[in-house]
Amino acid sequence: MVWTLGAGVAVCWLYFLVLARARGGVKRLALRATLLAVAGGLVFAANQRGLFARSTPGFRIALLLALLAVEVGYLYTTRFCPACGRMVRNLRPAQCRRCQAFLPRHGMTASLRHADNTDSRDPLKPRLRPPTPSDPAGE
Ligand SMILES: [Zn+2]
Repeated sequence: MVWTLGAGVAVCWLYFLVLARARGGVKRLALRATLLAVAGGLVFAANQRGLFARSTPGFRIALLLALLAVEVGYLYTTRFCPACGRMVRNLRPAQCRRCQAFLPRHGMTASLRHADNTDSRDPLKPRLRPPTPSDPAGE
């Protein structure tokens, strides 16, 4: 019964994070809190089962770094529309599919990707570097 209730709450929370209409900043904070709670829950469950009882400090640090890498990856790749709050887990689209508002450049910033600098901010396009005085090709 408790597991069913917990699963229902988790599904409702995921629905809120992914599709519900709310401000993007609110949902970004909610995602951060969720990821912290999940990481804390994993560490707590591992501690309850005795995983850390005879482990070395190096193992603990490696486990913590792995958890942090996953969390930062999720925070970077998960963006929220600032207008309608829709979750976008693809870094390529510049605009929200639901309301056409501009999306943040990545999940860890609130600065928007505007139409006039979309090309220069696209990380997949090669950047043209201005010539430097020591550049041999310029002489
Ligand atoms: Zn939107």
